[in-house]
Amino acid sequence: MNDLLQKAIDGASGVNKNFRLTPAEGLEILKNVPWTQVAEAANTVRHKRLPGNKVGYTAFRIVNYTNVCEVTCSFCSFCRPFQSPEAYVLSLDEIRQKTIEAKAKGADQIFLQGGVNKEIPLSYYTDVLQMLTQEMGVTVRGFSPVELVRIAEFNKISLDELLDIFKQAGLSSVPGAGAEILSDRMRQKLSPRKLPAQQWCNTLAACHRKGLPGSANIVFGSDETDEEIIEHLEYVRKTQDLAVDAGVAGFNSFVVWTFQPQTDKFPIRHVRGDEYLKLLALSRLYLDNIPHIEVSLLGMGLSLGEMGLHSGADDINSIVIEENVLENHGLTTIEEAENFIKNAGFTPYRRNLNFDA
Ligand code: SF4
Repeated sequence: MNDLLQKAIDGASGVNKNFRLTPAEGLEILKNVPWTQVAEAANTVRHKRLPGNKVGYTAFRIVNYTNVCEVTCSFCSFCRPFQSPEAYVLSLDEIRQKTIEAKAKGADQIFLQGGVNKEIPLSYYTDVLQMLTQEMGVTVRGFSPVELVRIAEFNKISLDELLDIFKQAGLSSVPGAGAEILSDRMRQKLSPRKLPAQQWCNTLAACHRKGLPGSANIVFGSDETDEEIIEHLEYVRKTQDLAVDAGVAGFNSFVVWTFQPQTDKFPIRHVRGDEYLKLLALSRLYLDNIPHIEVSLLGMGLSLGEMGLHSGADDINSIVIEENVLENHGLTTIEEAENFIKNAGFTPYRRNLNFDA
């Protein structure tokens, strides 16, 4: 066994910073260790950290409440300017209807995701959150860091004040959306109007302190370097350290995504299956303070997803009942999710948003 992989395995009985992979060691694994060895080590670490054979899934509907967005990321085909005839903001009734349909299919969670739209009043968000949680009885995850920061700015309140208001209205989790690659060189290239890497981390850390845990992810497959991938993992691990040290829930899980072709305005490359599995496995080894690693069925498809469950992942995230932004290669019913997990050799369990039930 490679010494670095053995170090990660030896440290897998808990968060022991003496056994933690350094950025240089993570880079060495990414560049020079065969993916099969990394996957095998990650699978060992996964079973040491999470004994048993369970694989989680969850059932939610993504509700893209508006497609108006002034951030205009180069890779995004979803956003529209305010004046566009295709611009929309969903009414409360439309969101209610989508939620009724989602509940009929077995979902108990709504994932609210939109653009940065300064025309939406603060009361819209609180009305939506209250309607979803109090009237419809679903839990709500929502809003990317850039949405939160801009909503606070538009309403001339602090981020902490906004989080208090949203939490009071019913928000229970904030996903680490919009991370893509946490390297300021890449962020300038892909989405110069999104938050710089450190501000993305600070925003999620504020959510964690306010009792709004969530997930983190990486989206790769552009022209990021290996060094930038490790920089990204390091940003995420340090942000999670803050939550662990403060005794609050932070990132419950980490998801590895690849860029999907949406526009021709930014470079995208083919990510081979072995490349995906290697980064998935390295994430399990490097992020020793994040309990769950999710494989992206939505982006990578079922065959690779099955291999991901043997390469460090313990969760499939799906089912996703509606996804407007990306083509869905994943699962759309609870039965499909359970069968997929059983066929991969594991025991399915349904979890909630925050992995606490
Ligand atoms: S990816 Fe999100 S933040 Fe970027 S332009 Fe699209 S909707 Fe806006």
